[in-house]
Amino acid sequence: MMNTSTNEKVRCLIIGSGPAGYTAAIYASRANLEPVLYEGIQPGGQLTTTTDIENFPGYPEGISGFEMMEDLKKQAQRFGADIRTGIATASDLFSAPYKVTIDGAKEIETETLIIATGATAKYLGLPDEHKYMGMGVSACATCDGFFYRKKNVAVVGGGDTACEEALYLSGLANHVYLIVRKPFLRASKVMQFRVNEAPNITILYEHNTIGLFGENGVEGAKLVKRMGEPDEEQVTIAIDGFFLAIGHKPNSDVFKPWIETDEVGYILTEPGTPKTNIPGVFAAGDVADPVYRQAITAAGSGCKAVIEAERYLLEAGK
Ligand code: NDP
Repeated sequence: MMNTSTNEKVRCLIIGSGPAGYTAAIYASRANLEPVLYEGIQPGGQLTTTTDIENFPGYPEGISGFEMMEDLKKQAQRFGADIRTGIATASDLFSAPYKVTIDGAKEIETETLIIATGATAKYLGLPDEHKYMGMGVSACATCDGFFYRKKNVAVVGGGDTACEEALYLSGLANHVYLIVRKPFLRASKVMQFRVNEAPNITILYEHNTIGLFGENGVEGAKLVKRMGEPDEEQVTIAIDGFFLAIGHKPNSDVFKPWIETDEVGYILTEPGTPKTNIPGVFAAGDVADPVYRQAITAAGSGCKAVIEAERYLLEAGK
C-alpha cells in the first residue's frame, strides 16, 4: 500500500466534474467556502461524450456537451474554485474532518464533502467486448463514430441513450442496427419517433448479443432472436462497430465503506435532499440518482448540496 500524507485542509471538497460537481463549485465559491474540486475519471463527465444538449433551459439552439462543461468550469473558476486533475482513490469518513485520498498519494482533509462522481457506461460482460475493445467495441458513439463513416454498425440498448447514439451514428454510418432485448423501446416517444423515421436504422427487437467475430477487428455480431423461446433463432449481422448503450454504473465504490447505497451502488440520500447517512457529506448528480439522470437535475442537486453544506458548517460553528 502506498504511503499517504495529510498535506491539505479544506472546508469543501468536491469530487467529480459533471454538471453536479461544477454547479456545486460555482455555488460553493460564491459562498466563500473556497472549494477544491477534483475532476475525477472523466473530466467534464458524461456530457462531454454526448452530442448536442437540446433540453437544458437557456440554450434555445442547443449546445454541445463539451462546450457546456467548459463554460461551467470557467464559471466556477471565475469565482475562485480550485479545479484540479485527480481521482479519489480512498476515503475515511469515520468522523469529521473527512479524509479523501487523491491518486493514491495525497490526502485531503475536509469539513464537507460533495460526492458528484457520476456513473460509468455498462458493458454486456461478453469476453468478446474485451477482445475487441478499441477494435470495434465502444461505449461512446460521439467519441468513436467518426471511425465508422459509411460502415455498418450496431448499437445495443432500447433507452434514450441507445436511440441518441443510433441517430448520431445514422448520420455517419451506412447502416445502423439497434439491438433491443425487449419487444419495445424504453426510450421517450420523441426519440422512438426519430429512430423509427431514420431510413438507415433497423431495430432488431427481442435480440440478444452472444458474441462478436472478426480477424483484426469486429466484422460481425452473433445474435439470438427470442432467446429461450421455442422459436429461438440464431442471427448474424455484418458490422464494423459495436456500441454499448445499456445504462450506467454509479461511481460510488471509493465511498461505499462509509456511505449507504442501494444494491446497484446509487448513494442513498434523505428524500428531497442531497444528505447522505454521514453529516457533512452530500451526494449530487447521477451517483445518487437512478431515476432522473439529467444534466439539469444533476446541476440542481449540486446547488442543493452546497446550500446544505453551508447550513452544516454554520450549525457546527465552523
Ligand atoms: P436506460 O436504463 O434508460 O436504458 C437502458 C437500456 O439498455 C434498456 O433498453 C435496457 O433494456 C437495455 N439493457 C440493459 N442491460 C442490458 C443487457 N444486459 N442486454 C441488453 N440490453 C440491456 O439507460 P439510458 O442510458 O438509455 O438512459 C438513462 C437515463 O438518461 C434515462 O432516464 C434517460 O431518459 C436519460 N437520457 C435522456 C436523454 C435526453 O433527454 N436527451 C439522453 C440520454 C439519456 P430493458 O428496457 O429491457 O431494461
